[in-house]
Amino acid sequence: MRLGIDLDGVVAAFNDGWTELHNAEFGGELHPDMVTMWNGLHTLAGFESMGEFWAWARGNGERPSVFRHLQLLPDAIETLQRLDGARHRIVIITSKPRWAIPDTLRWLADHEVPTTEVHFVDRKHEVPCDAYLDDSPLVLPDLVTHRPDALVCRFVRAWNDPVDGAHDVAGWNEFERLVSDFAVTRGDDAQ
Ligand SMILES: [Mg+2]
Repeated sequence: MRLGIDLDGVVAAFNDGWTELHNAEFGGELHPDMVTMWNGLHTLAGFESMGEFWAWARGNGERPSVFRHLQLLPDAIETLQRLDGARHRIVIITSKPRWAIPDTLRWLADHEVPTTEVHFVDRKHEVPCDAYLDDSPLVLPDLVTHRPDALVCRFVRAWNDPVDGAHDVAGWNEFERLVSDFAVTRGDDAQ
C-alpha cells in the first residue's frame, strides 16, 4: 500500500525543536507541552503573527532553519523501516514554507527515512495514497472527504480533535497495526 505520512508532529518533533531554539535565542522557558492550539504558535513565541514566527524560524547567516535539527518522535523511524520492509511505499506528504524544503530534504537524508516519494503540498489529498497519517485539524477532514476509500489516521495531539471517518492513533505501534489490518481486509499481499 501507499502510506501518506506527514512529518511535523508525526515523524519530526517540531514543537520540541522550535521551543528549544527559541529558549536558546531568547532565554525563555518554553516547553513543547505548552503548544495546545494549531494556530497559537506565534502567541506562545511572543510574535505578532505566524508570518513573524516563520521569519524567525527561517535560516539566517548564523544558523540553519528550525527544520534542520529536529529530533525524531518515538518509534517513528523504526516503524517506517518495518512498514517499508513489509513492501509498503512510504510517501512523505508535508506542508511547509518553500524556504524549508532544502533543510527538510537534508533532514530526511540525515535520518535515512525510507521513502521514495516526497511531496511538499498544502492540499495533501491530491497525493493518492491507501492510508494517511497526519496531525493537522485542517488536513484530516479534507482527507476523509476526498479519499473515502483510504484509511485516514489522526495522530492524537493536543491541537487536534476526533474527526468523523478518521481513526485515532496514539502512537506509531497503533498505526502499524491498523495498516496491517487494513491490508488484510483488502486482501493485499503486503501486510
Ligand atoms: Mg503535522
